[in-house]
Parts: sequence; structure tokens; C-alpha cells
Amino acid sequence: MIDLDGTVYRGEDTVESGVRFVHRLIEAKKDYLFLTNNTTRTPQMVVDKLKGHGVETDTDHIYTPSMATASYILSQNKDHSNKKIGLYIIGEIGLWRELLQHPEFELNEENPDYVIVGMDKDLTYHKVRVASRAIRRGATFIGTNADMNLPTGDELIPGNGSQCVFVAAASGVDPLYIGKPESIIVKKALAKVGYAKEDALLVGDNYDTDIKAGFNSDVDQLLTLTGVTQKEDIIGKRQPTYVVNNLDEFKL
Ligand SMILES: [Mg+2]
Repeated sequence: MIDLDGTVYRGEDTVESGVRFVHRLIEAKKDYLFLTNNTTRTPQMVVDKLKGHGVETDTDHIYTPSMATASYILSQNKDHSNKKIGLYIIGEIGLWRELLQHPEFELNEENPDYVIVGMDKDLTYHKVRVASRAIRRGATFIGTNADMNLPTGDELIPGNGSQCVFVAAASGVDPLYIGKPESIIVKKALAKVGYAKEDALLVGDNYDTDIKAGFNSDVDQLLTLTGVTQKEDIIGKRQPTYVVNNLDEFKL
């Protein structure tokens, strides 16, 4: 299960060792799944972006917190057959499209069953107000991921975790998070591809999301120092199963 930003690409730049790693996996006929915390892109948009970095893949090999959120809510509402599940969604197209393709869901601003907050670069006061009102009325508050910042060029921009803190402060309720480092997304991803946790490896550049997701779900981890986490950041901490300077160093 391979992270994307910082592992295969870095924003607009390609991480060549990450791309070679994916090519080596494909040549060795090893199964792989891209596991991202990004909810702004649809799976097809991720496929198109990867193509621009030299990776040919398809939507079956993409797993996002948007997909895990849909799967989680459906699994919590198995006996919900006759009534639609109401959602209030803060997010971008990757989250909206993923959720609303399920006929079990409908939009509801007044009294939704769930408020789902994902990265939304058009977040407004109005959206936070509607979300916090719904949560105060009893809606379950889900945050797709808890990343406080996103590295963008030389700037750390506010991430979805920061947005969720805003809604949490306004509503008085903390969210249930789905994305890495939570185990929910890892378990849902493994279930989708039909692998046991013993047969999987989590690959990523971020100790606090990718590697901790492995700790939390009992899956081995491979940290590549091509992105967020540097060698000195993990001194004195629980060590990942494997650490490499770049993914060329990892022998299959
Ligand atoms: Mg990353």
C-alpha cells in the first residue's frame, strides 16, 4: 500500500526512485494499491496525475479516504434499507463524487445523519455553521483525515485536520477520523484487495501518518526519506520495519 505525495511524486515533481519502485513491483508481479489521504481528487484524476509522472495504472489500484468513508458509513447502516442516509459534506469533487455515487446516500443540510469534512479550499463560514449545527442536532462527525498542514512548495498550507478543528470547536464534538494514521482506512483497503495484514506492507514518507497507520493496524511499514520525515525526526521513536533513503534501496 503505497503513499503518493512525497513517495511517488512531490507536488508537481516526480520522485524517480518511487516511480522505479512501482515499475519494479509490476515487473515482479506484486500486487499494489496506492493509499492516499487526499480526498480532493477522484480515482480517475489520481490515475491521470500518476500518468504524468510515468506510472500507468487504473482506478482499481487507488484507495482514498473518500472510499473508506463511504464504506465505513455503509457498514454502520446495514439495516438502513428503506431510508436514505443523510449527509452534509464539506469537501471537493473527489469526496462529493465518491459519496454521492452510492444510492443509499442523499444530501441533507437540515438534519443529516453524518457530517463529513474533507479538504475544501473553498471553505466558508456558512459551511462551518451548517456543519456544526447539524452535529449539535446529533449528526455523527467524520473527518476524512487529520493532516493539519500540507507541504506545498516552500509553504505549509492548512490541511483538513485544521478545518476539522474549526468544526470541532464550533460544535463541541471531536470527529471520528478515517484516513491514515487511523486503522480504518488500512482495514478497508485490505478488505477491498482481499489481503491479510501479515501479507501487506505500508510504504510512505510521513512517519505520523503512513508509519503510524502501520503501527495502528499491525501492518509492516517501509519509510522512505524522500518526503516529509527526515532521519533525525525518528530518533528515539518506535522504529518502522524498514527505513530507506529512497525506494531504490528496497530489495523486493
Ligand atoms: Mg506522503
